[in-house]
Amino acid sequence: MNPEPAYRYLFGPVPSRRLGRSLGVDLNPLKVCTENCIFCQIGRTTELTAARREWVPTADVLAEFDRWQAAGGTADFITLSGSGEPTMHTGFGEVLAHVRAARQFKTALLSNGSLLWLPEVRQAAVLADVVKVTLSAWDEESFARIHRPAAGLTLARLLAGARALRAEYGGQLWVEVMLLAHINDAPEQVRAIAELARTLAPDAIHLNTVTRPAQAGVAVSRVGAAWLHTVAPWFQPVAEVPEFTGQIPAPEQMTDAEWVESLARHPLDLSALAAAAGVPVEAVEQRLRGLVAAGRVVIEEREGQRVARVATP
Ligand code: SF4
Repeated sequence: MNPEPAYRYLFGPVPSRRLGRSLGVDLNPLKVCTENCIFCQIGRTTELTAARREWVPTADVLAEFDRWQAAGGTADFITLSGSGEPTMHTGFGEVLAHVRAARQFKTALLSNGSLLWLPEVRQAAVLADVVKVTLSAWDEESFARIHRPAAGLTLARLLAGARALRAEYGGQLWVEVMLLAHINDAPEQVRAIAELARTLAPDAIHLNTVTRPAQAGVAVSRVGAAWLHTVAPWFQPVAEVPEFTGQIPAPEQMTDAEWVESLARHPLDLSALAAAAGVPVEAVEQRLRGLVAAGRVVIEEREGQRVARVATP
């Protein structure tokens, strides 16, 4: 028989590039969420609802946190995240306030942003040092297709809520943009998302993509690191790109056909390609020289970027 886990609502601390050592607090039973995103790494939402409730006993969560702290627990951030949308829990503000009172930890709220249009949710959210919301759609149709939200939740509400939070909140507002190949990664789609993100006046924007298969039966594939680097400057502030290792091979290892195929999907910024491959930009230029001379690839200036694309016949 497996021993009882030491904690039911706390997990970690886990190392996080942006939050340091982050202790997760999970306020949702698996898997209750306001959305059923096609890219969700946790699994299919089994209870899709916009209902706010005390999904797990707040007192038990607080007692667990106190026990963890009394046992000498250390972390840089206490982060509300986990099996679903944390703002669905009516006690999430109380949890944030309790952690703040300990005066030892910063707090982060990782939210999909779907309930921020509710004033009581924003009132609690402002207690976090960092609030991260997700924005991966550019219109209601793409929002419905990507996030498959509960009835009544729309992109318009998400944007209105996030803008209202920005106006009321002095902490760090981060926007995460999840890009998926063939779903929301076309240039005009990314530019439209960037334009919406700009209206939220965030302190930081994080581009992301899937790193492992999501739900069974839903085909989502990741976006190449070079494309993430190419579109990052389209955001304001310039988006941060996660570090992927070995995502693209060294430029000299790719065949001519592979180069043409990958540039046919998206024109790519030369310095983004270099960054993704971990080589100097000169190495990329040198590798492409033959294809340029053969008239198969063109390198041109576009809005301050040097971009390689396939030559149009
Ligand atoms: S909001 Fe988060 S937890 Fe909910 S379905 Fe989407 S990715 Fe999964």
